[in-house]
Amino acid sequence: MAAPDKKTMSTLDAILTQELADLETQHLRRRLQVLEEMLPAGKVRVAGQVLLNLSSNDYLGLATDLRLITAAQAAAARWGAGSTASRLIVGTLALHQEVEEAVAAFKRTPRAVLFNTGYMANVGVIAALMGRGDVIFSDKLNHASIIDGLRLAGAAFYRYPHRDMDHLAALLQKHQQARRKLIVTDSVFSVDGDLAPLRELVALKERYGAWLMIDEAHGTGVFGARGAGLAEALGLTEAIEIHMGTFSKALGSFGAYVAGSAPLIEMLHNKARSFIYSTALPPPVLGAMQAAVEIVRQEPARRSYLLTQAALFRQRLQEGGLETLASETQIIPVLVGDNALALEYAAALRQQGLMAVAIRPPTVPPGCARLRFSLSAAHNAEELSQAAATIVQVGRQLGLGERSGVKGQQMQTAAKLN
Ligand SMILES: *Cc1c(COP(=O)(O)O)cnc(C)c1O
Repeated sequence: MAAPDKKTMSTLDAILTQELADLETQHLRRRLQVLEEMLPAGKVRVAGQVLLNLSSNDYLGLATDLRLITAAQAAAARWGAGSTASRLIVGTLALHQEVEEAVAAFKRTPRAVLFNTGYMANVGVIAALMGRGDVIFSDKLNHASIIDGLRLAGAAFYRYPHRDMDHLAALLQKHQQARRKLIVTDSVFSVDGDLAPLRELVALKERYGAWLMIDEAHGTGVFGARGAGLAEALGLTEAIEIHMGTFSKALGSFGAYVAGSAPLIEMLHNKARSFIYSTALPPPVLGAMQAAVEIVRQEPARRSYLLTQAALFRQRLQEGGLETLASETQIIPVLVGDNALALEYAAALRQQGLMAVAIRPPTVPPGCARLRFSLSAAHNAEELSQAAATIVQVGRQLGLGERSGVKGQQMQTAAKLN
């Protein structure tokens, strides 16, 4: 590519080029990575190299499942490629209604509504329900879409330290007089792979008259006897007012749901702007959604295999002296600390045929860069065991191991206080 000509470069491009160069210097520049082919057993081809993909959210291996693909094709053949309008205009097909009924049955809530993405669901729900005079309490490690929802809502909001229930209780006490109070949390945290203290959250919200919203983006399909999520696993479905989750991770396709009471769902139809002002999900996606919900119900072996493999994988990393924080799910971080070192680690693993992405600030606090491994039921047990050994070995070569574990504990504390 020719170097940009200073004379013809617009001021916009000149400023952005400088900003990109600054990101590069801080090892914070991000680039798109193109997958050339999806291969069996959770592998992909990138730049001609076959890699074990330890970075996808395809936890149950459904993204390439023939049943989802066939259902998507059949739905397109019957209903078309597009939904032609937004939901409140003429975009609600009988197929949307069928999927929403299937989701409500799956979640065991009275009703459910689909959103086009999890991002849109979080932004739409929080802004629809909360406003001036209200207070929202949000875990510091909640997903970015929740944070954007907080900003959009116009309500006061407080981000409590990660999983710190004492801090949350003090905030609830202080804001007892607020008009509406909403606690919002991920059920499975996407960067640390740990779990929200749902029982304690339910106790607090009941004590202080707050509502509870949980984001099960990483819990749906993975936790619970029927795969409905962490709330199901803990028997807390009815105690939680607002259940949000996605079809884009364990369920292998795209889109999101919010499940709860009839008044909640009907209010979202009326007030959630990301629901109202966007074209309805297209039929092929709805077909895939339907097939995925069926498979999740009927094939519990996928999630039990996933969680068993994740426990083994985590144990092997820990035995190798790596710091996996409080992970107890299919998401397993390895704390590195330094941004450049995290990038170096990821590059070295790639040489060994493993794809893991370095997660850096602002996604994590400064000094807490890490690799994040996410497992899939598509992965072969033998290959996972080999991968764990490679991760430990490469980590050692980079000076991570027993000693970084100690350093890791300190950093974890720092992250909590941040
Ligand atoms: C991925 C994710 C979302 C966003 O879902 P999309 O369907 O990808 O937009 C929301 N919340 C959490 C916790 C997530 O991990």
